[in-house]
Amino acid sequence: MRFDTRLIHSGQPADPLTGAVNVPVYLSSTFRQSAPNRHRGYVYSRSGNPTRAVLESALAAAESGRTGLAFSSGLGALTTLLEAFPTGSRIVSVDDLYGGTWRLFEHHRRQFGVRIDYVDMTDPARVADAIGEAPTAMVYVESPTNPLLRLVDLRAVARLAHRAGAVVAVDNTFASPANQRPIELGADIVLHSTTKYLGGHSDIIGGALVLSDPKQAERYAWLQNAVGAVPSPFDCFLVLRGLHTLGVRMRAHEASARAVAELLVGHRKVRAAYYPGHASHAQHALARRQMDGFGGIVSFEVAGGRGAALRFLRGLEVFTLAESLGGVESLVDHPASMTHASMPRKEREAHGVTDGLIRLSCGIEDPADLADDVRRALGRI
Ligand SMILES: *Cc1c(COP(=O)(O)O)cnc(C)c1O
Repeated sequence: MRFDTRLIHSGQPADPLTGAVNVPVYLSSTFRQSAPNRHRGYVYSRSGNPTRAVLESALAAAESGRTGLAFSSGLGALTTLLEAFPTGSRIVSVDDLYGGTWRLFEHHRRQFGVRIDYVDMTDPARVADAIGEAPTAMVYVESPTNPLLRLVDLRAVARLAHRAGAVVAVDNTFASPANQRPIELGADIVLHSTTKYLGGHSDIIGGALVLSDPKQAERYAWLQNAVGAVPSPFDCFLVLRGLHTLGVRMRAHEASARAVAELLVGHRKVRAAYYPGHASHAQHALARRQMDGFGGIVSFEVAGGRGAALRFLRGLEVFTLAESLGGVESLVDHPASMTHASMPRKEREAHGVTDGLIRLSCGIEDPADLADDVRRALGRI
């Protein structure tokens, strides 16, 4: 089956009891046993729940993986992933990271003796150098990165990591499996904040891991139960409902982002604009090679720094100023003071997250209304 069909049918049989085409929301914490430890596959909803099980197999199918595991948030998924790396482990991570991931790496895991080295992964040669410096347990990648939409050549990095015996985990939140499936490019683990495009309607917080290897899958399923950062059955239902429309939504998000990117590139009040689907993007050729589409996020740096950025934000009428991304409604973020505020200024600016940077999550409203909104707000600076 092709991608859009898989989203709706793979791993989602009709309910065996009633024939319901959608899996019911099984609001039960525990399950009756006919004799001690004799049951129908479900014991306690932390270790497994029928609604979650359907979501998990749908996630695995969407990412071309073997096993999907659902979590209560993207960071819950990441925390559980990191539990597999004990004191003394070394992680080589992309340097342009989601702020919450950076905070967990830098202000938490480091204290427990996990070494994390950050690398600009836009050039795979730098990844090779970093891996060569010391034994590496995991290479951790985001592509496109947040908020600057830089790309990492996933096939090249996976090959380098595997040669050195490291596993490769990719946070695929920004692209979504509609546009990029890292496991098909060689990655071992895919991470998601399902809060974003997979849920798609800004109504839940959730996360996921998708594994390609059965041994790894077993280990992480064990950790999922042992750590306990699991989602409620109702949240699982909502993510599954979102997943069904992921294909059509991503095409609509992209139409919006294209209209906005066209307007921003070359605009006299814009110093730089970043959209992997636009020919002006420094890695557009790589984007076309490893992605099927380019998503709904557009970032740009307004000329005039913080003051101009704040005036732009005040001028918007359709875009809502709020953290998060990937929902049907358009959102705007000022990374320096919102999503990336936990990074010290020096660190932030070294990564290119300046005070003039704006991140747009283009929703599925009419693209012309979104472009008009951005044009008007730029005019008010
Ligand atoms: C939001 C986000 C996360 C964290 O997910 P939560 O669901 O907020 O815990 C991780 N990575 C990326 C790229 C994100 O956008």
